[in-house]
Amino acid sequence: MSTKNYSCPVCKSKDLYLKHEASYVYSYILDSDVPGMKNTEIFSPFLYDRREQTESSEYIECEKCKSRFQSDVLYGALNESDFTFYD
Ligand SMILES: [Zn+2]
Repeated sequence: MSTKNYSCPVCKSKDLYLKHEASYVYSYILDSDVPGMKNTEIFSPFLYDRREQTESSEYIECEKCKSRFQSDVLYGALNESDFTFYD
């Protein structure tokens, strides 16, 4: 982890967060007990049979002034390769 601090181009705050937003559809096979092959007594949403990601976006947001920046633009502006997002 880098200790270098970046500042917001708008308000100069150092409270910047990289945010990853994603939407998923979880599918559960209907079987003889509760839905989902991995669910036997109660339905647990995390025991899904299939997961599909329908949308995702990444941006950097300043906590102070709430400005948002496209992360690809910022990667260039920050000229760092430190940012790697693992899914
Ligand atoms: Zn700001």
